[in-house]
Amino acid sequence: MRLLVIEDEPKVGHAVQEGLQAEGYEVALAETGEDGFFLASSLSFDLIVLDVMLPGRNGLEILAALRKQNSAVQVLILTAKDAIEDRVAGLDAGADDYLVKPFAFPELSARIRALLRRGKSEPVTPLRIGTLEMDSVTRTVLREGLRLELTAREFELLEFLVRNHGRVVSREMLARDVWKEPVRATPLDNVIDVHVARLRKKLDDPFASKLLHTVRGVGFMLSEEIP
Ligand code: CA
Repeated sequence: MRLLVIEDEPKVGHAVQEGLQAEGYEVALAETGEDGFFLASSLSFDLIVLDVMLPGRNGLEILAALRKQNSAVQVLILTAKDAIEDRVAGLDAGADDYLVKPFAFPELSARIRALLRRGKSEPVTPLRIGTLEMDSVTRTVLREGLRLELTAREFELLEFLVRNHGRVVSREMLARDVWKEPVRATPLDNVIDVHVARLRKKLDDPFASKLLHTVRGVGFMLSEEIP
């Protein structure tokens, strides 16, 4: 697995690089936005750890430029402050996950493992969240033992939400990973919202406990708890 770390603070950058190398990843480090963007667009990486606050070209600009080139590389952004606007802007720009600085290395490492796992298709079945049971092989979905009849797209949408349960899934992520559209467009957002509404009707309306939540301004989350 090849990772790229784009971080201008040498201490943080080197610590992350060494920590990840110790876990067996091949890790390149770029200390400016320009170098980072050059490496990211000329070499192939499985995942990029991208600091948002960089001199010159900032992390969000780099991310937007990469997505514009149709790069589907997994990107985890490091935001300097716990400001919701930064996270929303990051997810909107196409980030797969974010971590707020300062962070503990084990958390970074765990997020990276989760993202790399998500990147590959894992035939782990059945998937269970509360009273929801989903079998990706037989493509059946049960809620409280009752079978839900889903369209192919609704099934894929639910599967993606289940695999990311407990985490906010942005429309950007759904566009890229479920609809396979690397470029986000407003009409597609509307299509996504319609599918989410249809899925919710089948998944949640007949049952007392709700699983599919809207996270205002960010996206959706499948969770037994209200986010
Ligand atoms: Ca920085």
